[in-house]
Formats: sequence, C-alpha cells, structure tokens
Amino acid sequence: MTKSEEFFKMSLNKMPGGVNSSVRAFNAVKKTPFFVEMAQGAYIYDVDGNKYVDYVCSWGPGILGHAHPRVVEAVKKVCDNGLTFGAPTEKELILAELIQKCVPSMQMLRLVSSGTEAVMSAVRVARGYTKREKIIKFIGCYHGHSDGSLMKAGSGVLTEAIPDSAGIPKDYAKFTLLANYNDENSVKKIMEQYGDDIACIVVEPVAANMGVVPPKPDFLKFLRNITKQYGSLLIFDEVITGFRLALGGAQEYYGIEPDLSTFGKIVGGGMPLAVYGGRKDVMSCVAPVGAVYQAGTLSGNPIAVTAGIETLKFLIENPEIYSQIDKNTSILEKAYKQLGLLTHRVGSLMSVFFTEKPVFNYNDVATCDTNKFAKYFDYMLKNKIYVAPSQFESMFVSVAHTDKIIEQTADIISEYDTISNKL
Ligand SMILES: *Cc1c(COP(=O)(O)O)cnc(C)c1O
Repeated sequence: MTKSEEFFKMSLNKMPGGVNSSVRAFNAVKKTPFFVEMAQGAYIYDVDGNKYVDYVCSWGPGILGHAHPRVVEAVKKVCDNGLTFGAPTEKELILAELIQKCVPSMQMLRLVSSGTEAVMSAVRVARGYTKREKIIKFIGCYHGHSDGSLMKAGSGVLTEAIPDSAGIPKDYAKFTLLANYNDENSVKKIMEQYGDDIACIVVEPVAANMGVVPPKPDFLKFLRNITKQYGSLLIFDEVITGFRLALGGAQEYYGIEPDLSTFGKIVGGGMPLAVYGGRKDVMSCVAPVGAVYQAGTLSGNPIAVTAGIETLKFLIENPEIYSQIDKNTSILEKAYKQLGLLTHRVGSLMSVFFTEKPVFNYNDVATCDTNKFAKYFDYMLKNKIYVAPSQFESMFVSVAHTDKIIEQTADIISEYDTISNKL
C-alpha cells in the first residue's frame, strides 16, 4: 500500500469520503486520491515521492504557480503582526483599490472568505435592492453550495427546479428558476412569466464548472439587455474567470458590465478570500448602511488580504502574463485537437470533451463518455501529469508552466493511444 492509500483509508473514518471537499475524492475517475506533500511552481509532490505537473492549480487560484516567492514572503512577514483582528486594516483598503483598478464596475465591495459566501451575499443584496424573491440561474453553472444555488432541473418543465442535494427544503426551488446556458429562449420564457418577480440573473460569464462552455457571441449582451428591460440585476459570477481571462475578468474580455460581480480563487492568492460588489447604489443596501445583513468573523483577514494584494500587484505589473498563458494553453489545445478531441478554450481556461456532439449547454455536456475520460485521466497521471479528476472541470495553466513544461505535456498528450483507448 502506498502512503497515499494508507492515509486515504484512515481518512475515510474521519471525514465523509475521506476528504474536505467532495471533488477531491477521485470518485469520478474511480481512483484513490494522492495526498500532497508540497507544491512549488508548476509541480505538485505527493507523499510517495511522485512529482506531477499540476494543471489543477488548486482548482483555479494558482495563476502564479504554487508558492510564488513574492506572495509567500509577504505572507510570512505579515503573520508576525497577528493573524486576525476583527477590525479594519489599511490592507483591506489597498486590496479594494487594486480590485477597482482592474474591475471598474466594482464601485463598492465587500471581502468575504469563500466564493460560496460571495455569491450567496450578492444574491441577497439583489433581492434586498429589488424587493423581489426569485432568481434565474443556468443549469450546469456552479455558484457554490448555498441552499439556493444547489438546484438542478426537474423533469419536464424547464423552469421547475429541484434541490440538487439532500437537506434543502423543496420549497426553495420556487425561488430558483433554471434556464439553459446559451439559450436565449429559455430565459425569455421565464421572464415573460415571472419577469416582475426576478431579482437577478446569476451567470458564469464563461461556464467553467461543466467543463469550459463559452457564451455564444451575443448571449451575455442579451442577458444585459433583458435584465435591464425587467428591472432585474445581472450578476456575473467571476469566481473562476476573474483575473484569469484578463485583469478585468470576463466583463473586460467580453465588454459587458454587470450590476454585481463575485470574485474568488485568484483574488485570494491561495488563501480563503472572495469578494462581491458592484454598483454603489445597490451595494449601499448592505448593513450597516442598508437593511441587507452580511458579516464575517474572518472577513478581510490580514493574511489572506496580503496574499491577494501581492497576487494582484504581480498581475498588474506583468500584464504580458495573460498572452503568455493564453499562448501556452493554445499549444496544449492543439495537441488535443490533433487527437480528434473536442476542446473549448477561452484564454487559459480549457477543457477537453469526450463526446461526438458540439457542446453549448449542460444537455450537450451530459453526452460525454466519463469512462473514456477516466482512461485519459489515468494515462495522464501515469505520465506524471495531474489534470482535474472529472470530465466537468477546467484545466488551469499558470505562469509557472514554462514553454518547456508545456511542450513536454503536449508531447505526452500526442502519444495518447487513441486506438486502444477507443476514442
Ligand atoms: C469555485 C466557484 C464557486 C465557489 O467558490 P468556493 O470558494 O469554493 O466556495 C462559485 N462560483 C464559481 C463560478 C466557482 O468556480
């Protein structure tokens, strides 16, 4: 038994599924997860001495690679001054300024500790501001694990949601209406029926939690217009796309300004930190100014804020990073395409789909052959390349993935035996 197998076996008795976040259990690829010893740059090392090129990057935060010296040094230094105060600091002001510099629509914002919390709070603000109760979300988009976000499509009527998890009252589904990503008609239909009750439409501007599914050319513009028409707010959940597609996220990349946005992952530089914010008149609804309550013992934590500041500063000072990771991801994309696989890529967000169909929404994604994905995952891991252990996740390329590392990965992809693995 390897050390990882041994640790996993013991963990199964301590934590549900042996893990603290369910995707980490490798269930989708029917394997045992490796346990991490450390990570540096583009590499992650397990407790059995294996060294993998890491294309998971902690599921998105790691745009600078692991343990970036500038971030780590700043964090070490600031620890000496105390780990948490529960009182305001200048650092929060600095991070807020940096975020606003990159994302001008963030006129006013709040720091929180997770993407889940950011979206949950933004939706509450939208409800408080509009005094409406229903929201629209898209099937296959992920917005964290709060009760109202974990909804899937019911059978039959498109708009009727059912909880995607046990433990969520069935009645919650009344407040979350589901539309199809990239399908304007599905949104129009809901708006025609419930428009005056819709507080907001929340969307991943590039869907990246069902594999990467880019918006059709006018889809985001359509959402901007229809929300205006009905007096609903548009929320961009940029927890993945923020600071990934561009300094200004998907809203800069596509030139569409939402009313509210959420950020997480990269903005915390590897620490628990997320942000929600947007229009000043809307954010003025938040307590203690307004009537929408939201708070957090560790919100704006000085260590997390420091990691965020150093990460954003590095990105702002080195904007060429975006073309570098874009180019390197395109090299990997080319290798997949040569195998005849369907790929989607927006900048350094990419995924490979094991299906014959074109993919525009969740129904298309659901045609993917997860057994084929599992074989491919196995092949990559054997070749010391770690990609997300699920068909429905993105691949992340960081600044630390040098041209040489990318070339080596592309070579390994090219050698994938598509015949014996029956692609
Ligand atoms: C990761 C993610 C979240 C949830 O963030 P957590 O920090 O895991 O709570 C929400 N929305 C999107 C788009 C995400 O990718």
